[in-house]
Amino acid sequence: MIDASAAIDSDAQVTSHGFTADVARLLQLMAHSVYSEREVFLRELVSNAADASEKLRYEALSNESLAARAGSPLVAISLDKDKKTLTVADNGVGMSREELVSALGTIANSGTRAFLDKINADGASDNGQSLIGQFGVGFYSVFMVADLVEVATRRAGSDEAWLWTSDGKGSYRIASAKPEEAPAVGTRVTLHLNSESEEFLDPHRIERALREHSGALAIPIEIIGAPGEEPRRISDGAALWTKPKSEISNEEYADFYRQLAGQFDEPALTIHWRAEGRTEYTVLAFVPGSRPLDLFDPLRKSKSKLYVRRVLISKEIQLLPAWLRFVRLVVDSADIPLNVSREMVQQSPVVAQLGKAIASRIVQELSKLAESEPEKFAKVWADFGAVIKEGLHEDPQRRDDIFKIARFASTRAAEKTRTLKDYVSELREHQTAIYYLVGDDRKRLAQSPQIEEFAARGVEVLLLDDPVDAFWVTSCVGFEGKPFKSVTQGGADLSLVPLKEGEAEQPAPEASGEVASLVGRMKETLKEYVDDVRVSTRLRESAVCLIAPEHGLDRQLARLLAEHGQAGALGKPVLEINPRHPAITALARSGPGPDTEDSCFMLLDLARIADGELPVDASAFARRLTARLAKGAA
Ligand code: ADP
Ligand code: MG
Repeated sequence: MIDASAAIDSDAQVTSHGFTADVARLLQLMAHSVYSEREVFLRELVSNAADASEKLRYEALSNESLAARAGSPLVAISLDKDKKTLTVADNGVGMSREELVSALGTIANSGTRAFLDKINADGASDNGQSLIGQFGVGFYSVFMVADLVEVATRRAGSDEAWLWTSDGKGSYRIASAKPEEAPAVGTRVTLHLNSESEEFLDPHRIERALREHSGALAIPIEIIGAPGEEPRRISDGAALWTKPKSEISNEEYADFYRQLAGQFDEPALTIHWRAEGRTEYTVLAFVPGSRPLDLFDPLRKSKSKLYVRRVLISKEIQLLPAWLRFVRLVVDSADIPLNVSREMVQQSPVVAQLGKAIASRIVQELSKLAESEPEKFAKVWADFGAVIKEGLHEDPQRRDDIFKIARFASTRAAEKTRTLKDYVSELREHQTAIYYLVGDDRKRLAQSPQIEEFAARGVEVLLLDDPVDAFWVTSCVGFEGKPFKSVTQGGADLSLVPLKEGEAEQPAPEASGEVASLVGRMKETLKEYVDDVRVSTRLRESAVCLIAPEHGLDRQLARLLAEHGQAGALGKPVLEINPRHPAITALARSGPGPDTEDSCFMLLDLARIADGELPVDASAFARRLTARLAKGAA
């Protein structure tokens, strides 16, 4: 127990006390409640080793004899299956007896933080940017995996060496170490692994953990798989993103991307930059060369790797908005505030701000690519456009940026190459809206009866075939003052737009009594399936088509909503008929008769089929059609 210091103010009978702590319990808590994964002990030990070598480098700047003795920094991890030990050795600054007491003997006292305060107070120009430790608790994570820990250490420049031992149950011992017990330079931490932690005697297991958590540290790491084995270097002490761009080959970038993304292709776009300013950070980001498997995962989470001072803090932090989730990236910053377990950073406002800045840069680079290498960009858009467009709906602040890079297929471009800018710069005279058709098959959309009159007047129609299109077109007001308008929704008055050369104005649909009464008959027969039947101004070649009522949802959006359980969304459509089509004129002329019902249903079914839907009743449709064929043959 820590001594309670009590002071008694004798007059007033008031006493004040220092808190006491049950150190054994506290250590137990430290070791078992702070971390979610046991393997972080390795990250903590290697981070301490890296800090120790950084401190030695710093001290050697002003001490030639230290400089002479300091070797090149290295961390070595040795495994011994027989003895069940894992040893982490460094050639850093080491610890004196007093430092052992204050650093390892005092919970939550960070020798590294003290060191940092000192060099900052000294006004050093080198401000300890790369030092990792700060909380003074990481070391105790060893007691998650070990039931006895030995630290043999020699303070740089000193002849004395010390041996610190503890079982993590509340006390420790310090003894003077014999020369053969201590390293010539630096510190050796030996863990006697407990029975649940023998997995850490497997060199592959250790290698994986090291690569993941510590592979980016500025210190080379070696592993000695068994006593007497040759050391194997698993990290060269230079994280790719810390190197200047000019020193990195495309192949190195691509290798790094493949490891990061778990893909086998080449990145379509590599973006590597360092931001300076209030928050400093380095980013290495990749747009994959093909769609990752989880692109349409319903969780839609972006996953980035966050390093703080080159130590991996989070493998899957959500830095980017969901619509940039295909971007794979690593960010490294010294300015992210961490909590004690170093695992929770997501909530920090600094992280949110960082995410915004990174997203902006990525969008900017995408637009650069779109301008400078349209073909390369076309591939990126083909792979990820459907995801990027989610941003139009979800991220109104980025809408303009996304509109700038968005590419569309239209009645003027079979592939997705048209921009909205192209569209509005080639509007037809008196054209007041940006017209679109949403569906799931671009080829079928291009054949839709609903766009016949648009074609005759040379009015371009965007053919939107990604599911997300149905959403953003309804939530975005328009582009450059032109509203988006579905060609399948409500009336379309194109009469002011001039016809293309060679196209004839259609005679105004004569208000013939015959047609009017046909409309009446159709309404009556089909009332269960359609909201209304109308004479169309948008049909030329086809006899019929379906549209949404003036204030109803776009048909495709309604269909999507209905698929996702909003059964009420798909209201009844309006059936439009072409009064100049021979099928319609014949039907109008023949008046009511025994075949009326069949004819009405066949027309409705044809309109549904053109929309990619099934007939109202497939077997009835088949029966009616075969009956007609039989009649024709007779
Ligand atoms: P932190 O790294 O956050 O300071 P730790 O509990 O990991 O906290 O370590 C406590 C202190 O012990 C460190 O600040 C450092 O002073 C000292 N220390 C730990 N490991 C080493 C080492 N390998 N070499 C020198 N000093 C060390
Ligand atoms: Mg530490």
